[in-house]
Amino acid sequence: MLSPLKPVLGKAAELLAKQLEIHTVGDLVRHYPRRYVDRGKLTDIAGLELGEHATIIALVEKTTMRDMRNRRGTMLQVVLRDEKGATLDATFFNGHKVKHFIHPGVRAVFSGKVGVFNKKLQLTHPQFDPLDEADEIRPFISVYPATGKITSQEIARCVRQVLDVRDGGGRVEVTDPLPGSLRQREGLAELGRALRRIHVPESEADYHAARNRLVWDEALGVQLALALRRQAAVSKPAAACPPRRGALLDAFDARLPFTLTPGQQEVGAEIAADLALRHPMNRLVQGDVGAGKTVIALRAMLQAVDAGRQAAMLAPTETLAAQHARSLRTMLGPLAQAGELGAAEHATSITLLTGSLGAKAKRKALLDAQSGEAGIVVGTHALIQDRVGFAELGLVVVDEQHRFGVEQRDALRGRGGDLAPHMLVMTATPIPRTVAMTVYGDLQISSLRELPEGRSPISTTVVPLAEKPSWFASIWRRVREEVAAGHQAYVVCPRVGDVDPQDLIDTEDPDIGADSDDGGARRPPMAVLEVAPKLVEGPLEGLRIAILHGKMPPDEKDAVMRAFERHELDVLVATTVIEVGVDVPNATAMVILDADRFGLSQLHQLRGRVGRGSAPGVCLLVTDMPAATAARERLDAVAGTTDGFVLAQLDLELRREGDVLGSMQSGRRSGLRLLSLLKHAEIIAKAQVYAGDIVEQDPGLVRHPGLFALVGETVGDEERAAYLDKV
Ligand code: ADP
Ligand code: MG
Repeated sequence: MLSPLKPVLGKAAELLAKQLEIHTVGDLVRHYPRRYVDRGKLTDIAGLELGEHATIIALVEKTTMRDMRNRRGTMLQVVLRDEKGATLDATFFNGHKVKHFIHPGVRAVFSGKVGVFNKKLQLTHPQFDPLDEADEIRPFISVYPATGKITSQEIARCVRQVLDVRDGGGRVEVTDPLPGSLRQREGLAELGRALRRIHVPESEADYHAARNRLVWDEALGVQLALALRRQAAVSKPAAACPPRRGALLDAFDARLPFTLTPGQQEVGAEIAADLALRHPMNRLVQGDVGAGKTVIALRAMLQAVDAGRQAAMLAPTETLAAQHARSLRTMLGPLAQAGELGAAEHATSITLLTGSLGAKAKRKALLDAQSGEAGIVVGTHALIQDRVGFAELGLVVVDEQHRFGVEQRDALRGRGGDLAPHMLVMTATPIPRTVAMTVYGDLQISSLRELPEGRSPISTTVVPLAEKPSWFASIWRRVREEVAAGHQAYVVCPRVGDVDPQDLIDTEDPDIGADSDDGGARRPPMAVLEVAPKLVEGPLEGLRIAILHGKMPPDEKDAVMRAFERHELDVLVATTVIEVGVDVPNATAMVILDADRFGLSQLHQLRGRVGRGSAPGVCLLVTDMPAATAARERLDAVAGTTDGFVLAQLDLELRREGDVLGSMQSGRRSGLRLLSLLKHAEIIAKAQVYAGDIVEQDPGLVRHPGLFALVGETVGDEERAAYLDKV
């Protein structure tokens, strides 16, 4: 499959390489048709109707080149004739470009919208694919992703030459990487046959069987890569941190003001058991906003400290890191005051380390980490970047996983010297099953499905300004009511607003705007810096209002957050910096302006900031998108359920899949063409089991050269080497 195309294809090989990055036999046979034209379903010219999208096979009878009347350039006017003798006009605008392909005598598939010109039906600038004799006898015509320089049919010819479909044999040796036993059990076609049939199907069943088999290749490639990655991750020994009775963790549990939920206890036990082992834990805890993940993380860190190790906790933003440090200190009380007057027995100390610390404070923090003085170090990504030395790092906690990539996870695993640290990753974004099995497939997963008791319900309402502009005023009346009742409110905008249009987007929030579905014609999204003054002077006059966004200096951000926590502020006008981790139980109202600009999971995440106390929360999703648009449907979905897992699945369905699977493969051309996280859940699950067994029995894949190659095709040779080096 890795052999070059030149010897088989000659000059065409150069074109394939230059136009489509197709270099090897493998590249070419994995360049699958985009669609098929089913001859049985073609329309005759006589049967065409105005306005329909039609596909016909016809002969080019006559061509005339004309200058365009109102524009520069030429147009090619063509008369087409089908087998029954009926004729149809077609017009191509870039006459000079297409005249090489379209001349009298050429038979081709034409598809496009049927329009009318001079009272006659015509196809205007249709897609076309010239046919050759080989196509004439086949029930399906394969249509390939092509470019202006190489047509679909030329590609088809190359593929046929390589696979030599005509005599049924294979000019190129195709060895099947899948173990025969697997193929038999799953009823999968042999690879050579599947490849021939996906390119040249004889029937629909043929095509489905071929596709199913090729999906398996991709699923197994991914799962093998993940199994190898898991294997590599645990290959380095870790420091065992068994629980120690009567020490810090027990003291903490004794002062906990609530009882852990059954879910917290269960997940806590899983983690405690993992930490006691001599190989590193790699565990992801997923649980909705407010499910109580922080306590779980803290208890894990205390177990590490009890074992004489340090723990590091990473947060995605400085605000959040500072807040974590504060809330950990509060929860621990005297247990976090090691070295201070009044410290408890077994006490440890917490150090905050972020990029914005002054030079002196930073030196002190680094020293605390290095000397082991700090039992727990809380920080941002700066912790990774600054080559912080730890005395004895035993556990790394990564909060809010969705902002961390696989590489960052790996970078962290590398800390900790000869012993790899245990790794605990926490996310509030529920992860659909298939995503868990792929993108996060190198992690064990624990789920918190229920919230602690005593939480009040959040009611979510869409405020559709397009139909009900008067509701805008009532939003602010509602906010005033909450404040009058002694509560607080958030107003969230998609944008900071700035003099510099270059960075309209909040730096701490790279996701925004990515999935807004406007064509750029809409007004710019609401901005914190524009909305806040209007509220102060208008509907929220007299309330204590402050702003919060990612571009404020960290200490200013911190001061605002603290003032809000202490209820010295009524309303916070903010960007999504508040999306993660902000915990002010007295906040009961959230107004999200231009809510359609946010993703589903993000809205869910944002809304989790209210209703954290005993008073019921209200979330208003404000939009001016008209009813019955996709944007409005998404908002209705968020208003319709508080189940994060349901929304996560929906989010996956709405997102382009490539975005999800693409994140597994950093910066290389994807080896995944057919695998879908929506459609192939069953296959992915089965492939995971097979891959686990195979890697367990053959850790270096030395007895499975075909599978070894498959992993390379899936994640690239470098990644593969990175996993296998560690065996
Ligand atoms: P998450 O990080 O999962 O969003 P947190 O850990 O911040 O959630 O917990 C949210 C709030 O719930 C915190 O104030 C925390 O002290 C509280 N909490 C956590 N566990 C429980 C529990 N078992 N019972 C009552 N309150 C809890
Ligand atoms: Mg949290």
